Amino acid sequence: MQSAERDDAVHPAVKILDDLLRIQSVNPHYGEDARGERDVADYIQARLTRAGLKVTRQPVAAGRDNIIAELRVGKPESALLFEAHMDTVSIGNMRDALIPTYREGKLYGRGACDTKGALAGMIHMMERCAAHPELLHADLVFCASVDEEYAFQGLTAFMSLDIPLSGAVVGEPTELGIVVEHKGCARFSVQTQGIAAHSSVPHKGDNAIYAMTDVIEHVRKRIEPDLALIGSSLCGHPTIVVSTVAGGSQINIVPEACEIRIDRRIVPGESPEQVLLAFESDLREKLPHVRISVQPLLLDPALNTPHDAAVVQTAQGVAERLELSPALRGVSYGSNASKLQAWRGIPSIVYGPGSIEQAHSAEEWVPVHEVVQAAEFYYRMACCYAYTPKGDGAG
Ligand SMILES: [Zn+2]
Repeated sequence: MQSAERDDAVHPAVKILDDLLRIQSVNPHYGEDARGERDVADYIQARLTRAGLKVTRQPVAAGRDNIIAELRVGKPESALLFEAHMDTVSIGNMRDALIPTYREGKLYGRGACDTKGALAGMIHMMERCAAHPELLHADLVFCASVDEEYAFQGLTAFMSLDIPLSGAVVGEPTELGIVVEHKGCARFSVQTQGIAAHSSVPHKGDNAIYAMTDVIEHVRKRIEPDLALIGSSLCGHPTIVVSTVAGGSQINIVPEACEIRIDRRIVPGESPEQVLLAFESDLREKLPHVRISVQPLLLDPALNTPHDAAVVQTAQGVAERLELSPALRGVSYGSNASKLQAWRGIPSIVYGPGSIEQAHSAEEWVPVHEVVQAAEFYYRMACCYAYTPKGDGAG
């Protein structure tokens, strides 16, 4: 090990990450052996309480609690949120997933990049700030949330507390890029309705599978090419995929019903609700002979943070001082940041060590030096962030 590498490995944020990786926190949705977030929540609660912070354990579901820590310096109107999720996807076929392993500057373990690396950096930042609150210009709120990997129940519960916030930093793997835009999605099912008949007299029926082939062809030949023409500056263009199909009941019956499921990724400027409505009315107009119904399954907004927001400006200044890239970026995966923006218009960035390429994979790792840099970035963000509410006459 070279000396810079050794320094990184003993950095307090890396030590915290090492601890977190040893604690299994697989989302209970992903398998019977999943322990959920309980043990990681215990660890974070104990550490931040020891640091002298006000720590709240917010019950979200059975045995699954958010950990919320606050550091108040008398500026509640300018509070900055740091948020990262505690759950991981399943262990799957990852070997030694719960034994942190260092190799060539990388730290391997389930959750290393998604998103315990960011979580560790934020815990370390809160501990440092607790020791020197006089350096802050804004209140800090930290939320270690449950269930990001499935249904975002943790963030939804946090938002229900209605804690005033002026900006947010959400931890996910961005390779230390400042992410201000990401895609969202509209997932929905489409049903075609036909008329059942004995297959020896098919003219007495109306084949719902044939009707669905018209729908699928319309998606491929008309909708998909049009989407390639829409774009956002940082996220690329929207996409659509017909990902499941099911229909018919028996080989000798003209099928009465058929259903497909569609995953439509949206870009900033689109809303999932509008996309769904437009899809349905387009189908009714272009295929008037087909009887359809459309049901939403998951509507997730895109992230579109104004580039002049205080949290973005502060992030760019901090990145420059740390000799990291101040460029603003867009990514195609979703995060809790877009929910914060949709909820109260909270300007949010996504920032963290590691790459989404290693998330959810059999070889999950994070570059150790990025964990250290992210921890330093969060700390400087916390210290430099200041926010002046509009209408106060300043600036
Ligand atoms: Zn994640």
